[in-house]
Amino acid sequence: MPKTLNVVDAHAHLGGCCVFDNNTTEEELVFRMEESGIDATIVQPYPGAKEAAKVHDRIAEMCAKHPGRFFGMVSLSPHGDHDAYRREVERCVKDLDFVGLKLHTIGHGVDPLSKDGDLVFATGHDLGIPVMVHTGPGIPFALPALCIPAARKYPGLKIILAHAGWSIFSAEAQVAASVCGNLYLETSWCLGEHIRWMISTIGPERVMLGADLPSNVPVELAKYKALNLEPDVYAQVIGGTAIEVFNLSSFVRVPAL
Ligand SMILES: [Zn+2]
Repeated sequence: MPKTLNVVDAHAHLGGCCVFDNNTTEEELVFRMEESGIDATIVQPYPGAKEAAKVHDRIAEMCAKHPGRFFGMVSLSPHGDHDAYRREVERCVKDLDFVGLKLHTIGHGVDPLSKDGDLVFATGHDLGIPVMVHTGPGIPFALPALCIPAARKYPGLKIILAHAGWSIFSAEAQVAASVCGNLYLETSWCLGEHIRWMISTIGPERVMLGADLPSNVPVELAKYKALNLEPDVYAQVIGGTAIEVFNLSSFVRVPAL
């Protein structure tokens, strides 16, 4: 149980997924963290969770079992009753201490420009938590630029572009972040040189490590290590940015960077 936070994986899932046909266990998450030296992981349900609320409860139990090592992110479809959606997000944030909210463009079929897409951004904004949006595969909804209107409508809301365009749309993610200071880039599945370019143009304080799948944890960390970044820049992108964006220092002691 780490009492300092240095390395943070901002994107992981727990449980089963009927959309992408996979399943991730607590044991896999813990094993990969220990193997790669990840201090903390932010965990969300898969978009294909049969009952998102039950997975939220499982994530909360895992957070309680491993204090300071796991943090929760809410993920559920916004296509049902809007009041019920807000109630579940509020429950996770206020009762379970979750630190973020996911808008899954492909897994939940959500257009960021739609009314239901706006519900996610508005809920995150109202509760004061960042919203992570899946980008990359699943266009047109997953195009990074579709988050620009929400970033402008809610200037106080931090929006993280998950996968930062997944390499094929990484240039668009970089452009979106370059025109909106409240857009952040989580770089799972991107090429190493794309990550270097994002860091050098957008700045390390808006780029963060994420892995998405357990087997990808050592891979994503290796990409950052291979870039031979300056030590302060490296510390920022592998943990500092996520700590700041998700306000993790309010939960655990963080060393000065
Ligand atoms: Zn994911």
